[in-house]
Amino acid sequence: MKYYSTNHQSPFASLEEAVVKGLAGDKGLYMPERIKRMEPSVIANLKNCSFHEIACLVARMYFDEDIEPSVLDEIVCDTLSFDTPVVPVHDNIYSLELFHGPTLAFKDVGARFMARLLGYFIRKKGVTDEVNVLVATSGDTGSAVANGFLGVEGIHVYVLYPKGKVSPIQECQFTTLGQNITALEVDGTFDDCQALVKSAFMDVDLNRHMKLTSANSINVARFLPQSFYYFNAYAQLDREGRAGELVVSVPSGNFGNITAGLFAQQMGLPIKHFIAANNRNDVFYEYVQTGVYRPRPSVATIANAMDVGAPSNFARILDLFSKDGAEAYKGICQCMSAYRYTDEEIADTIRRVYHQDGYVLDPHGACGYQALCEAMLSPSETGVFLETAHPAKFKSTVDSILGIDLEIPAKLQAFMNGEKQSVELSREFDEFKSYLLSR
Ligand SMILES: *Cc1c(COP(=O)(O)O)cnc(C)c1O
Repeated sequence: MKYYSTNHQSPFASLEEAVVKGLAGDKGLYMPERIKRMEPSVIANLKNCSFHEIACLVARMYFDEDIEPSVLDEIVCDTLSFDTPVVPVHDNIYSLELFHGPTLAFKDVGARFMARLLGYFIRKKGVTDEVNVLVATSGDTGSAVANGFLGVEGIHVYVLYPKGKVSPIQECQFTTLGQNITALEVDGTFDDCQALVKSAFMDVDLNRHMKLTSANSINVARFLPQSFYYFNAYAQLDREGRAGELVVSVPSGNFGNITAGLFAQQMGLPIKHFIAANNRNDVFYEYVQTGVYRPRPSVATIANAMDVGAPSNFARILDLFSKDGAEAYKGICQCMSAYRYTDEEIADTIRRVYHQDGYVLDPHGACGYQALCEAMLSPSETGVFLETAHPAKFKSTVDSILGIDLEIPAKLQAFMNGEKQSVELSREFDEFKSYLLSR
C-alpha cells in the first residue's frame, strides 16, 4: 500500500517511509491510498470474534501488503495485552473504556503498535545504528510513547517535558522507566519542548550524528490502529442487539482518535453518526457552525489532553471527505456534529453522573458523555462515548470535583513507587543539541 500526503506535493511513500518520516516532506499528513471495505458478512460475524481476532482482521486490511500476516498478527497481539470493554452508564448510553492499557489512556494502543512496527522494520533491515525517537509531551503522550517503546531493541526514546508543568502521576510514568527511555526536563513550556524537537529534526549536524524520528500522533502507525476498538465496540453492542444505530462521541484534541473512527466507518463499519466533543478549545465546533476553520493558540482547561488550538488531523478529515473544501464541509456536517464544554460544565457532568449512575468519568470522557446527552438520541439509537483515560490519571481534579479520594489503580501506583531519573535542560536549542551530540 502506498501513502500520499494530504498536501499532494510529496511523492507517494511506502509504509516504512511513512512510519519513519512521520510527516511528509511537504508538511502534509500521510493517508493510505485506498481504504478497503470489509464484507458485510464479516461485519455480521464480528460479534463471534475476540478483540484480538477483530484487530487482526482490521490490521490486515491496512497492512497486509507490507507485512506478512503472521508477523502482523504478532504485532497486534503484542500491542493488545488488554481489552476495551463497553460498559452501560445510563439508559442507552455506553462508555467505551479505552483505559485498561499500561498507562491507562487510549494512546497506549497507537504507541505500542507503532513501537512494535518500527522495531520490526529496524530488525528487518538489520540496521546497526540506533534509531532515536524524540517526543515532546504535556503529559499523556510521553507516558504512552515511553511505555510503548520500553525495551524495544534498536530504539532510544527521549521524552521532553516542561519542568513543573505535568502532574506528578504523569511525570512518574516516563521518568522512572530507565532502560532505553530518557526523560529530559526542560525549564520552559510545552511549546518550548515542541520547538526543541522541531529544531532537532531540521539540524544538519544532529541528523548526521544520529538517526532521528518522531512518535507524534500524526504518524500512521499510531493513528490507524485506533480504528481497532471501534470495531470491537460494535461487536460487543451487536451481541446485545444494540448496534443497529450507533452514535459515537469522541473527546477530541488533535482529532486522531475520531479520524480513526471515520476510517472504520469508511471500511464499512455501520456507525450512523459521529460527535466531536471539545473543551473550550472549540476550533472544530466553530468550523461546523460557520464553515470557517480558524486555528488559534490553545487555552488551558481541566481536560488538558484536549487543549489543542490547531488540530493536526483536521487535514485528514478534510481529505477524507473531498478534495473540494465546500464539498468537504457539506459531507462533514452530515456525518459529524460538534459540542463544546467549559470547565464548569465538565465538572457538573462529572458530579451528575457520579451521583446518578455511580460512574466516575474523567474530564475528557465527561465531554463525550455530555455531548451524547445533548444530542437527544432516539430510543432506537445507542450512544457510545470514548472514555479516553482512567479518572485516576486526573486524580486531583476529579477528587476536588467529587470530594472523594479516588483509589489509584495498582498499575499507576507502581510507577509512583519508582525512582525519578531525568536530565535537566534549559530551553536553549544549543544545550539540547550538545547533549544529543554527546550521546
Ligand atoms: C490525547 C487525548 C485525547 C485527544 O485525542 P485526539 O486523538 O488528540 O483527539 C483525549 N483524551 C485523552 C485522555 C487524551 O490523552
